[in-house]
Amino acid sequence: MEAYQPDRSLKGKIRRRLVRLAERRPATAAPTRPMVSFSFDDAPASAAAAGAAVLESRGLRGTYYIAAALAGTDGPMGRFAGPDEIVRLALAGHEIGCHTYSHLDLGQASGPETAADVGRNQAALEAWKLPKARSFAYPYGDVSAPAKRALAGRFATLRALHHGVIGKGADLNQTPAVGIEGPDGEAVARRWLNRAKAENAWLILYTHDVANDPSPWGCTPGALERLIDQAVADGFEVVTVAEGAAKIAA
Ligand SMILES: [Zn+2]
Repeated sequence: MEAYQPDRSLKGKIRRRLVRLAERRPATAAPTRPMVSFSFDDAPASAAAAGAAVLESRGLRGTYYIAAALAGTDGPMGRFAGPDEIVRLALAGHEIGCHTYSHLDLGQASGPETAADVGRNQAALEAWKLPKARSFAYPYGDVSAPAKRALAGRFATLRALHHGVIGKGADLNQTPAVGIEGPDGEAVARRWLNRAKAENAWLILYTHDVANDPSPWGCTPGALERLIDQAVADGFEVVTVAEGAAKIAA
């Protein structure tokens, strides 16, 4: 299977910039201390096993953004977690967040297409007896203005992929995030942790597979361990995305 490439044209870049000004829902409070969330997109079975184990061994929990149509299938980052593995995550206290059902690219989708695909994902998660998702992630981090409008306010946060930290006034309908992925993923994440600490802000980190030989979108268990341990040593509160949102929307 070849990995899908979202629109990287100049027109796409301008659209992504403009959409960030639309349908904004600013955070009403700043974090009282730096916060970090560790999230896993899609989510590969290795993230549900090795990724969860790293967090659980430290008494911490993460957020898994699930696209139900991928569950149990094979992809370029290994097998995706199936329903049983996803339910186990929820029972262990991890947050199950919502992606699109079919991993639909919302940068290209209309409002009605967006509402239908996300509704289908919510129905699938509900059929697995999971609590209603409070956190959403845009596949590829991309969203069109009509798609953003269709989802605005339906989730406590809607997470994109532009780099940044979250403080008072940040748009909760299109939050930044930083990937722990690729050869420099750990170093990039470390720089953003330092920035979140300096600004007393909330950083949402994401990755995909967690393996000793990760895909270009994943990271090693060691990288995850070092980043978590640095964050804890630096006084960060490690929160699920829903917990973080509750702290800055209150
Ligand atoms: Zn995804």
